[in-house]
Parts: sequence; C-alpha cells; structure tokens
Amino acid sequence: MVTDAARLTEHMAWRFGAGSDVGRIRTQNEDAYGADEPKGLFVVADGMGGHAAGEVASGLAVRCATEGLAVFPPASLEEARDRLREAIADANQVILIEGQADPDRSGMGTTTTALLLSPDGWWMVGHVGDSRAYLVRDGVPSQITEDHTYVQELVNQGRISDEEARLHPRSSLLTRALGTGAQVSIDMFEGELRAGDRFVLASDGLMSMLPEDVIRELISDSECAADELVTRLIDAANEAGGHDNVTVLVVDAVTESEGDDATA
Ligand code: MG
Repeated sequence: MVTDAARLTEHMAWRFGAGSDVGRIRTQNEDAYGADEPKGLFVVADGMGGHAAGEVASGLAVRCATEGLAVFPPASLEEARDRLREAIADANQVILIEGQADPDRSGMGTTTTALLLSPDGWWMVGHVGDSRAYLVRDGVPSQITEDHTYVQELVNQGRISDEEARLHPRSSLLTRALGTGAQVSIDMFEGELRAGDRFVLASDGLMSMLPEDVIRELISDSECAADELVTRLIDAANEAGGHDNVTVLVVDAVTESEGDDATA
C-alpha cells in the first residue's frame, strides 16, 4: 500500500546492523543471514537437518533471495512482490532437490524472513517459518509476521497464551518451512516506509529465550543504534541461557539526506 504522498516525499535510505551467534549450548550455527544494503534486502534464515544440513538449507535460502532480486530496483511494487515471492519459492525447490539428492541432507529445511526496502518509500516482507520481523514506528513495536508453528495455532485458537507458547515443549515445531514439500505457502506483507521506522528480523533463538515484553522494550529504545541493538539482543538471549543459535538484523529507515550525513 503506497500512497501518492509517499512517492512525493524525499527518497528513503537505511542503515543496518546484523549479527549471528551460536549460543551457549549448540556447537554449530545453522542460522544464516544476508544483508544487501544497496538492494535494501535483508534476510534471516534458521536451518534444520542433521549432518550440518541445516546451515546448507539456511545458506541456500539467503542466496536464492539475493539472486532473485539481482536486478534492482524492481520496476514496480507489483514486480517486487512477484520477484520476492518467486525467490522464496525457488529457494524451496532448490533445498528440496538438494535434500533429495544427498542422503546426508535428506529432510533439511529452513525458515526464511526477507525484508525488502525501496527508496520510493515502501517496505515488503516475505515470510515462512518462525523467524520474525518486527516494525517499530513512533516508539511502538508491532510484529509483522506470524509464526508458522504448532503453538501459534494453539494461541490463535485461544487455548494457550503467547508466554505459554514460548515455554511449550513443542514450541519449535514448525507447520511451514522451506524444503519440506513441493509447494510452500508464503506470507507477504507490505506497507509505507517512513523515516524513523526500525525493522528487527530475528531467528527464534531470540524469541525462545526472552519474554515478548522484554524484546519489545529492548527494540523500542530509539537511543540505541542499530548495531548496538543487535549486540544487546544477542547478549540478552545468551544471558538467558542461549539454548539456540540467535541471529538479529536491525534496519533503520532514514531520509536520503540523513543517509548522506551518516556517510559523509
Ligand atoms: Mg532456531
């Protein structure tokens, strides 16, 4: 949804911070992320599968998203929507085929949450799985994506609370992932991009370790720069136990002139 008013405003730019950590328990990091700043493309993927196949799957998801947006900028919002969706669908096919071709990679899969920002003043998210995208606007955080998990379905049915879902023994059971079937349903979200908007992408290693109110308080601190917020969130997940790999991207939208100031 892009208004004419948005098109008339100054072009948008962005600054970002990103980081990934193995956590305190696991020996391998099966998360992956991509940050292609010129394209405004930011991706987090959380892989699963034995024999290090999870990191292969998450790496493929990031690569497919980046390659799918190889020609930038898209000619239109509609084209961007099609290409982001196709890039994620292609990742699904590639992961499925590689998983079938190599017994060590059988059953590998991954989440993917991809954010695309446009200088013309819109944002778009393509999403499968239980990594998340948040938007903080005017100091108010909101969750863009919905988790594709068994426990989220229980929450939606009113049977358990968000906090009970977080602490549920089957909290990580996914209902949708890339690489697990020939077809995958991809959630798409979009909206107007405003200066001051902050996007936070994270793998479930963040949300599983921290209560929702703690995450929202941390990401709403407008005094905290993007790269500092990445460090704070990863440190907080690890201090809470670090049971999973944790990956965080923080992307701040600014006007083009503000972006120039930052790099001058
Ligand atoms: Mg995880």
